[in-house]
Amino acid sequence: MEALFSFVLWPWRFAWTISWRALVDIALMTFLVYQVSIRFRGTQAARIGAGLAILGVLYVLAQSMGLLLTTWVLGGLWAAALILVIVLFQAEIRQVLVQVNRATPSLRQVFRRARRLTDLADVLATIAATCFALGEKRCGALLVFERRDPLEPLLRNPGVVVDARVSPQLLETVFTPPTPLHDGALYLRAGRVYRAGCILPLSETSSLPSYYGTRRRAAGGSTERSDALAVVVSEERGEITVVEWGEMVTLTGPLKLRAWLTPRLSNPPAARTSGWAGSLRPNHNWQAKLGALAVVSLLWLVVVGPQNTEVGFTIPVVYHNIPEDLDLVGQHTQEVYLGVRGSRELLRFLNQGRLRAEIDLKEAREGTTRYSLSAHEVNLPLGLQVAGVDPPTVTVHLKKKPLPKKLPDGSDATKEPS
Ligand code: ATP
Ligand code: MG
Repeated sequence: MEALFSFVLWPWRFAWTISWRALVDIALMTFLVYQVSIRFRGTQAARIGAGLAILGVLYVLAQSMGLLLTTWVLGGLWAAALILVIVLFQAEIRQVLVQVNRATPSLRQVFRRARRLTDLADVLATIAATCFALGEKRCGALLVFERRDPLEPLLRNPGVVVDARVSPQLLETVFTPPTPLHDGALYLRAGRVYRAGCILPLSETSSLPSYYGTRRRAAGGSTERSDALAVVVSEERGEITVVEWGEMVTLTGPLKLRAWLTPRLSNPPAARTSGWAGSLRPNHNWQAKLGALAVVSLLWLVVVGPQNTEVGFTIPVVYHNIPEDLDLVGQHTQEVYLGVRGSRELLRFLNQGRLRAEIDLKEAREGTTRYSLSAHEVNLPLGLQVAGVDPPTVTVHLKKKPLPKKLPDGSDATKEPS
């Protein structure tokens, strides 16, 4: 029963031994891993990252098992692969860093933004009217609007650069089959058509209705992984669906579409829920966040765990369950020196005042008995080991209690007369 209790309490005891530094460490790394994972999910970079992670785990395993040659080879491979990744994916890394380092806008940028907003109103009016016109003609279309998160690293196929002003003629031409660019998505950046024929990542959400085809799944996939917006014109139904953060809403009429797009594009959502700030919404993309937390916690245990060190304390010896008919006599050991081995993290929060060596005398007999002190006798929290006890044994002298003397009248001589 006691063992079960201790097992149930272990996570709590363990949680108390984790310092605030470790929590900050884990939180920061979880944030970083989550940001990197959502930006590279499903890409070639992510697959290479997973390969590197496996190599890293094998390296740690080989190191902990003392396989010197394997550790040396894996360590070299890992370092070489890391350099290769930096060289191969410098464009993606640059984009992620540019996002982190967004400067505050200058006055010129503010004026430019005011002009851009007037232009944007015209662009959105054109887009809204053309999308409904395409819908009426049952001409399928997919438009993605880049906001603050770069969309390029997400593209499975970059399509072709168009870099043109938005016009009804351009949109209709692009999406009318069999033009070469009618398949795929139109990529809009800063109010202009940047690319056409782009292939986006598909959504992996199982909650989407089964009748949703690849066009809507592509709209879901790109908006789940970034702060982009998507507009889908259905070829089958002619309806218009807008997508933000993977959530789809069907709109009726160009005015509603314009009203939906305008605030979202004229006021990019940095302060609301963009890539970085979106991380603070606990329910947004919670599976990826939980995954990042699990990976980092595991890594923390693997990296911090082996940093073993040893400390020593003097702890009291407690003698339990002395049989009723026996007395503990003579000199017996009151204190021993205990060496404890474990990770620095666990040792730092070890409550040494609660440590004791416990000798169970339930089965003890009269006479002198030697008890050796090991991990079993010491109440160390899980994760810590006994490195040694000095002295390693204690000697216990037990003597039978004197039998009560009976008086001739049969009463007990040891009792006070009443
Ligand atoms: P609709 O209501 O128009 O039929 P849907 O959601 O049912 O849309 P599909 O019928 O599968 O989707 O639409 C296929 C079209 O979607 C393709 O012809 C192509 O233009 C576009 N599409 C499919 N996958 C992608 C992708 N990954 N990225 C961009 N566009 C895509
Ligand atoms: Mg379809």
